[in-house]
Amino acid sequence: MMTRAVVSGLVAVIIAAGPQLRAQTGVAPDFSNIEIHSLHVQGNVWMLVGGPFNTAVSIGNDGVLVVDTMVEPLADRLLAEVKKLAGDKPIRYVINTHFHPDHTGGNAKVTRAGQSIVAGNFAAQVGQDAANQANIIAHENTQLRMMSDLKPPPPFVAMPTDTFFTEAKDLYFNGEAVQILHQPAAHTDGDVIVHFRKSDVIVAGDVYINTTFPIVQVDQGGSVQGVIDALNRIIDITVPAEKQEGGTYVIPGHGRLADEADVVEYRDMNTIIRDRFLDAIKKGMTLEQVKAARLLRDYEGRYGASSGFWTTDNFVEAVYRSLSEPPKKTTQVR
Ligand SMILES: [Zn+2]
Ligand SMILES: [Zn+2]
Repeated sequence: MMTRAVVSGLVAVIIAAGPQLRAQTGVAPDFSNIEIHSLHVQGNVWMLVGGPFNTAVSIGNDGVLVVDTMVEPLADRLLAEVKKLAGDKPIRYVINTHFHPDHTGGNAKVTRAGQSIVAGNFAAQVGQDAANQANIIAHENTQLRMMSDLKPPPPFVAMPTDTFFTEAKDLYFNGEAVQILHQPAAHTDGDVIVHFRKSDVIVAGDVYINTTFPIVQVDQGGSVQGVIDALNRIIDITVPAEKQEGGTYVIPGHGRLADEADVVEYRDMNTIIRDRFLDAIKKGMTLEQVKAARLLRDYEGRYGASSGFWTTDNFVEAVYRSLSEPPKKTTQVR
């Protein structure tokens, strides 16, 4: 069992640093001991957990759809686990919830292991190579940030092949509607949540994590209000079963499988925090004064951290900035 500190430390290493950390410290993050475990959530959907990283897969008659691909060093283990669950069923689609390398790092290997659905004459036009790869679906801002914010940018084969800039994209796969819903300016500016409608499962990506305070990447187009909006979107879709437990399940970007009650609690916390900050900003308090006032005191025991990638201070700065500055746009703005 990994402690929360270890988990958030690992996430830290990946999200912020990856290659940069290696360049700075000469130390590569160690993934050798991470095993991938799977959990059948319900319907077609499985949750795969590898240390601090989560992936979801839909398995059925049409084949396999993979939501997020963990980090590159875990891709072979991820594929082995998918094969264990799905046998020889082909991987048809990959969906990326956002651009961070702990969600897209395995794209190249997973997409190469797959096959896209290419019908009739079109197969000849796209050629055998493209037909032998799974399609990668993501919001357009995810593709843009993979090119501009990841250093070095990932290889062409790892890039999303099927992007959209509208509010939502739908597909029908394994006998159910799969809705890919953009959540603007939340954790980043390219987040999507994926709703498997018949299986009754939502894959939230990093707009909902239950290991730390929300990671609000203001420089990547994120905002605390966008995170709250995304949590409310999830709560709109989820329906609890008896005694407010179970029903619709929510797979977080990091952390354990959740249901509506968990997301409601997290949303409430973030709404309270936002209101405290808005009040402080209205009173003219500076960031330093807000830090000193410890506005998160009552939540720090559960979600706070004094070291690692996402400390309480990082969160305080992000909330303060996102409520007092306009969101940052990607390089190309439509
Ligand atoms: Zn992320
Ligand atoms: Zn993440």
